[in-house]
Amino acid sequence: MRPFDPWGNPWCRCSDKYTFNPYTGCGHKCQYCYITSYIKDAFNPRLKPRIIRQLTMDLRDLGRGGIVALSYSSDPYTPLEQKYGVMRPILKLFREYDWGVLIATKSNLIVRDIDLIRDMNAAVSITITTLDRWLATKLEPGAPPPSERLDAVNKLSQNGINVSVRVDPIVPYLNDDPVMIRNVVEAAISSGAKHIVASIYKAKPDSIRRIISEFEDISIKILNLYRQGFRFYGYGYAPSQYRYNILNSVREIVKNIDSNVGFNVCREGFFNLDDPHAYCDARHLL
Ligand code: SF4
Repeated sequence: MRPFDPWGNPWCRCSDKYTFNPYTGCGHKCQYCYITSYIKDAFNPRLKPRIIRQLTMDLRDLGRGGIVALSYSSDPYTPLEQKYGVMRPILKLFREYDWGVLIATKSNLIVRDIDLIRDMNAAVSITITTLDRWLATKLEPGAPPPSERLDAVNKLSQNGINVSVRVDPIVPYLNDDPVMIRNVVEAAISSGAKHIVASIYKAKPDSIRRIISEFEDISIKILNLYRQGFRFYGYGYAPSQYRYNILNSVREIVKNIDSNVGFNVCREGFFNLDDPHAYCDARHLL
């Protein structure tokens, strides 16, 4: 386990917590993923050796009652989890030590562990970038289709587990259409989501290379847009006006559907768009 490190980014509002990655790398292979910029062979996930023993030792050292995010450099329910099933003993350990657990995934495999999650202090974030199955297959080729993720939102919510849906990232010219975004938000809220997070794709050289190779028809437009933007803490940002307009419209969509549903942006610098007592990591749902 490691202390969460936003690499000094002042636009991250998350307070202290730990992060824990049972796997190195991730099999969801999202074109926009940032882990390929710092993990070798990142789309070939490997279970970390002696992971349960290591976690047990870490928790003995750290004691009771912290907060941990699973996971920010992999998906804890990456397809390999079907084979190894380490999330169940991991969740049991966190429950034993009374930790708050923020689970972030785009897999409906999480439904397998509902019996455990509903019995502990946990909130779940499920990423749904589009309802368009064709687009999702190209954008997130190793992840379950959006319909199965929505089904997971529904099942988790039905079991009393607080769920946040991340419309994240919104990639210019791919899933930034307002009707498309509205459809995702409406489906998420009607499936029980209590919180929506949105952010615009932040470019790394390798991820933008994958995107322009997979989506040749938008390659010139997206490159031009990011050329008009700026670099901030290691990422390429699209221009502020573009980002603000989209994110503000997502906020309006959310609040028009249900003003009780929380809303946050993630590392965008538009703090006026954030609900004051909510956080993009969903810790307010613990
Ligand atoms: S699920 Fe997350 S960690 Fe896995 S490939 Fe996609 S963006 Fe990367």
